[in-house]
Amino acid sequence: MLANSFITGRNIAVTLALAGIALAQFIPGAFDDPVQRASVVTTQLLVALFAFIFAHRTAVQHRMLETLATHDALTGARNRRALEQELDIAMAASARQLRPSALLLFDLDHFKQVNDRYGHEAGDQVLCQFVALIHSHTRANDRLFRYGGEEFVLLLENTGIAGAQAAFAKLQALVHARLRVQDMPVTVSAGGAVLQPGETREQWLARADAALYRAKQNGRDRLEIAD
Ligand code: GH3
Ligand code: MG
Ligand code: MG
Repeated sequence: MLANSFITGRNIAVTLALAGIALAQFIPGAFDDPVQRASVVTTQLLVALFAFIFAHRTAVQHRMLETLATHDALTGARNRRALEQELDIAMAASARQLRPSALLLFDLDHFKQVNDRYGHEAGDQVLCQFVALIHSHTRANDRLFRYGGEEFVLLLENTGIAGAQAAFAKLQALVHARLRVQDMPVTVSAGGAVLQPGETREQWLARADAALYRAKQNGRDRLEIAD
């Protein structure tokens, strides 16, 4: 029973344990008297229960560790390690299914001023609000990653240039409407890049970064799409 809870899943282990305990009742001569039978069954049920509790706690802790390893502690967005893994997966899927994949590299504008004027904690709050805003207004399939301090990557699978532009326009409008620190409006610039056949993850990100640089040069609060 204990071994099962390690080898198989929680539910299978419990089902096997209960089936084993039930079947043992039909083995002729297995128990000398009712007291011994009750004592054995009780012991087996307790072992099954503790094995279940142990397996359940292990599974919960495993999930927690996985979340800690792949998510940013401040904002709850996925982290850079997760970004690398998921870009690779998206690139493979895109090549296999001949579907476009786009990424938007966001950088909050003049974010140093937010910290300087209102303090680092207010800055942290803006980062969290930005992430919450994106999470609640993007498709379930779109994934957001914290790329660095106030830089984020939004991965849009099954999306080309027009889709990336539409996604940015929607998020920009939301940022205008919802994101501010006291009387200071917060804006965001972005560089967009649609995956090109044969390019590496680094090349894809570098093109988005170059487009983001142009967005900053051209006045911020805008999207530029990579060539
Ligand atoms: P630009 O429009 O050119 O992007 O200007 P900027 O001020 O946003 O750019 P810059 O790269 O000069 O500054 C980024 C700032 O972001 C500086 C840093 O203090 C702030 N920052 C980075 N990570 C965090 C964070 O986790 N919390 C807070 N509060 N601020 C952060
Ligand atoms: Mg920056
Ligand atoms: Mg910035």
